[in-house]
Amino acid sequence: MKAFVALFAFAALAFAQPQRPVETFQSKAGPIKITAIRHASLMMEAGGQVVHVDPWSQGNYDGLPPADLILITDVHGDHMDPKMLPKVKKASTVIVAPKAVAANITEAQALNNGESKTFGRWTIEAVAMYNEKRGPAPGKLYHDKGRGNGYVVAYGGMRFYLSGDTEGVAEMRALKNIDVAFLTMNLPFTMPPEEAAEAAKAFRPKIVYPYHYRGSDLAVFEKALAGSGIEVRIRDWYY
Ligand code: ZN
Repeated sequence: MKAFVALFAFAALAFAQPQRPVETFQSKAGPIKITAIRHASLMMEAGGQVVHVDPWSQGNYDGLPPADLILITDVHGDHMDPKMLPKVKKASTVIVAPKAVAANITEAQALNNGESKTFGRWTIEAVAMYNEKRGPAPGKLYHDKGRGNGYVVAYGGMRFYLSGDTEGVAEMRALKNIDVAFLTMNLPFTMPPEEAAEAAKAFRPKIVYPYHYRGSDLAVFEKALAGSGIEVRIRDWYY
């Protein structure tokens, strides 16, 4: 009977667990595991450390470990969510964010576009993310240059690019030696898939994952990169 109850409880738990896409990469310092949570929210794990990126309360964090490091890209609610932070934090957690975010999340360490920081075996480099042409009204942009950070996260010789909310700007196109890119595409806020594909062709990551893509036709992105030598990996970020 006990065994039956335990089995039933296990089955119920297994059923309740969300089917989060998990990807594993082999770096020189061991495996790096990346879990897609929702939209721009993801978790990186390596060497016993956990990095949460843009933790957002619309994601399902049930059963996920708390962060050693939290990276926040911008002030919008799907990236900076003060309600969510206590749920993924512990006493020692370090938060790295652009200045505009640190103005609200006062415990965050500010990092400007172009600056970098090391955290244990991780290196974090802030990359400009912004709109050049899209905005809510004439003369306004959804993301002003200098406010937000994309990040290049390096660990064990591997370089991961997290674009943040951006168009295919010069700073992205100039990136070098990116192994894995997480690239935004959604209108009206960032860019359409064809523009994201053009930008990917410029900096040539080995692997690219569309993320923050809600409502976008990912087949367009995949088709635009077919034969380019860049591997496109489509995962369900909205399970
Ligand atoms: Zn966003």
